[in-house]
Amino acid sequence: MSADLLTDPAEALHATFGFSAFRGVQEDVVDRVLAGRSTLAVMPTGAGKSLTYQLPAVMQQGTCVVISPLIALMHDQLRSATANGIRAATLTSADMDREQTIDRFRAGELDLLYIAPERASQPHFRELLSKAPICLFAIDEAHCVSEWGHDFRPDYRLLRPLMDAFPEVPRLALTATADAHTRADILAQLGIPEEGLIVAGFDRPNIRYTIRHRESVARQIAQLMADVPGPGIVYTTSRAKTEKLAEQLAAATGRTVLPYHAGLEPQVRAGNQAAFVASEDMVIVATIAFGMGIDKPDVRFVAHEGIPKSIEAYYQETGRAGRDGDDAQAVMFWAAGDFAQARSRLSEIEESRRAGENARLNALAVLVETGSCRRAILLRHFGEDPPARCGNCDNCLDAPGVIDATVTAQKLLSAVFRTGQTYGFGHVEKVLLGQADDRVLTRGHDQLSVFGIVDGDEVRLLKPLSRALQARGSLLPTEHGGLMLGGDARLILKGEASVQLVLPPKKESRGRRDRSG
Ligand code: ADP
Ligand code: ZN
Repeated sequence: MSADLLTDPAEALHATFGFSAFRGVQEDVVDRVLAGRSTLAVMPTGAGKSLTYQLPAVMQQGTCVVISPLIALMHDQLRSATANGIRAATLTSADMDREQTIDRFRAGELDLLYIAPERASQPHFRELLSKAPICLFAIDEAHCVSEWGHDFRPDYRLLRPLMDAFPEVPRLALTATADAHTRADILAQLGIPEEGLIVAGFDRPNIRYTIRHRESVARQIAQLMADVPGPGIVYTTSRAKTEKLAEQLAAATGRTVLPYHAGLEPQVRAGNQAAFVASEDMVIVATIAFGMGIDKPDVRFVAHEGIPKSIEAYYQETGRAGRDGDDAQAVMFWAAGDFAQARSRLSEIEESRRAGENARLNALAVLVETGSCRRAILLRHFGEDPPARCGNCDNCLDAPGVIDATVTAQKLLSAVFRTGQTYGFGHVEKVLLGQADDRVLTRGHDQLSVFGIVDGDEVRLLKPLSRALQARGSLLPTEHGGLMLGGDARLILKGEASVQLVLPPKKESRGRRDRSG
């Protein structure tokens, strides 16, 4: 291909990929790279990131070295590049032809060389680079370089010194998932100037976002499957849940529902994935490992059986729905316990990452708890300035009631405090409602000032309020399953912070019939 290099990007685009036009910011990114200027491109999944380094690689002498975090991803990329006639190779422990690849690399016979950061940062690779012609460093999944990102990988930090040894080679960092804070960090960590940031629009207008409280989740998802007959992905958090839920859904709906997780035999896993990609109505119940690198444009819904790790993860996972542009649904089912668990896990992670993880969890809680437009919150998170209402999320379509529940929250928090911050919601609720069972009496909790102070309309607020307070971290789990004060609880008690409560719709999970149904 390098025999007659094309100098016009549009021509090269057509000749190499058969595409008639660039999409979105692709052209801006390619232009900058061809001008030899380092760039960070933030583009949502499916926006066509790979092309932004593949095309310059084809158009220039020398090899583009692509840093990629996962061998499986590299091999997917390799297959599709090779299918387009691009001269590409991977350098991983799984490759038998490493010697040959190195020879081709040194001889300038490769457009692309894919390599993992831990291998790239070894001294002998640096030595190899000094003997081979290179035109570009492409750093895929660049958020891995930041502790603020949701997937920090220390090996990414070793790339900067490597690239600094080749100052004449431009850098192109790519990510789908970076909030403003993470972006700034990626620029700094990889030595890319601020003016090199290019951000694509994040809106996916054909995806309808819905977030519901989880009740009996198999029934709720079966209902969703009845409303949305096309292919769907259900994300769960554990392998065991994956298999159980797949069985329940298959039994409830009569449709093909298969599990996918890292513990399955490789052939079974690959078989289930292939069946899903080929199918027009299959549902796959998967851990988050599923979906990276699969190209299935007609996924009609993505459901979350519990909270995702972060807003970035939510956006990326739901982004696998509706890539063909037709209507699609993203439905999350959450419970207060999801946040409680995630918050208790915070204490187990490294000190240096805790603040970032905590901020991520709080941002997710805002998305989950809000009574206003979900899309607006998502897009603002990615630095955009969207309209206040989108018209295609649950809250825009069916505005929930929002009330000021600060006073009831003060009663609840105060009861948690006065009972010693050791009991679960059930006991605290009894105290507030003035229900004196044996435990209440033996602990003397019927003597507390908070005994029986909640009645009338307030009664039905207690449960959703406890959920909301747990989501925002004002109530935290104790080691033994009780509740204790946390976050801004003291401010709420002093009347210095308020609590807006979104009232759940009356018919929680009876979803509206939908055009795509
Ligand atoms: P990302 O890595 O950003 O998720 P990919 O690079 O995998 O996205 O591209 C997603 C899909 O879009 C691929 O099937 C790719 O061939 C296609 N694509 C990319 N750019 C264009 C374009 N300019 N015109 C048409 N299709 C494109
Ligand atoms: Zn909306």
